[in-house]
Amino acid sequence: MSGSSVKVAVRVRPFNPRENALGDKCILKMDGYKTTITNPADGSTKDFTFDYSFWSHDGYIEEPNGYLKADPGHMGCQYNDQSFVYNVLGEEVLNNAWDGFHTCLFAYGQTGSGKSYSMIGYGENKGIVPQSTNEIFNRINNSTDDNKKYQVKCSMVEIYNEKVQDLLVLPKDRVQSGLKIREDKKRGVYIQGVTEIPVGSYSEIDKVMQKGNENRSVGAHKLNQNSSRAHTVISIDFKTVDTATKTERLSVINLVDLAGSEKTEKAGTTGDRLKEGCAINKSLSTLGQVIKVLADKSSGKGKKQIVPYRNSALTRILQNALGGNSKTMMICALSPAGDNYDETLSTLRYADRAKSIKNKAVVNESPTE
Ligand code: ADP
Ligand code: MG
Repeated sequence: MSGSSVKVAVRVRPFNPRENALGDKCILKMDGYKTTITNPADGSTKDFTFDYSFWSHDGYIEEPNGYLKADPGHMGCQYNDQSFVYNVLGEEVLNNAWDGFHTCLFAYGQTGSGKSYSMIGYGENKGIVPQSTNEIFNRINNSTDDNKKYQVKCSMVEIYNEKVQDLLVLPKDRVQSGLKIREDKKRGVYIQGVTEIPVGSYSEIDKVMQKGNENRSVGAHKLNQNSSRAHTVISIDFKTVDTATKTERLSVINLVDLAGSEKTEKAGTTGDRLKEGCAINKSLSTLGQVIKVLADKSSGKGKKQIVPYRNSALTRILQNALGGNSKTMMICALSPAGDNYDETLSTLRYADRAKSIKNKAVVNESPTE
């Protein structure tokens, strides 16, 4: 099968205060494309290769405003900061969108591994999403082609217990049963009735996303107080209308911050939290099955297998991004600590399978009405 593969990146974060207190050892090494994990129990190692490996474990300095930057004086290691990661992944997302392809970036990993840090960021350490949206408007403002008109719209949902909820609507005003997922030829899969807000500047889109972020379901969680037990999907519709050729191009950019991939026992969940954990695992395990079937098909095995997209809300929404008309990237966030060996190994295996999926993206151009 022709087409381009899903690009997979891994990123390892610094020790968190808990891991520091445990005096834990770093079990990951990165060398070029290669990531090596060491089993702390017996010292055995496993190697993986990915399209991009970001070392963000040490070798940084913290500025007074809290921004973490690579420390040029630090010998032997290179801290890949937020702008470094953006320059590799975010630029590619934008270039795809500019060329008229649908594009998707999703973050996978256990709670506390750095998914939200990479995607959204904290404070001055802005992640891929705000840096990309900023750059979208920079490019629009710097465009010298008077025939091109740009329209940007954005929406934000979360999938929580298999229900799709609009994050741009206050929790009290939402439809309890959640929003429906539909499909059409031009747009691919979309969410019916979701709030889509036209935005004309970075500060406008930034405000919309902050509002969405505030409306997320945040559960106090043993592994990470701020972690969400829901999947967050940000969609940006980027339309370019060419008045000279009377054509328009639509590119949908999906940015997905997945819920934690850990098994529920480790998170110490009970009651309601446990139920959430089960539904999340259902969504993530379906994603795992989808990835497996697509990977098999790409390698010529099991051609007749049905891809189980419809088994979860998450995979329905990502249907286009996985094995469809989209250029897709995945960033897998890794804890460096020996204490998380099992989860980190399982994330690496997940990432490894995702690499072999092949998509066939086409430019989405049509005559203007
Ligand atoms: P997740 O979204 O996967 O649950 P977070 O992104 O919230 O995890 O990260 C957990 C903690 O680790 C946060 O305090 C965050 O600031 C820190 N962190 C994560 N990744 C990095 C990184 N690459 N560099 C520095 N700190 C990081
Ligand atoms: Mg998070």
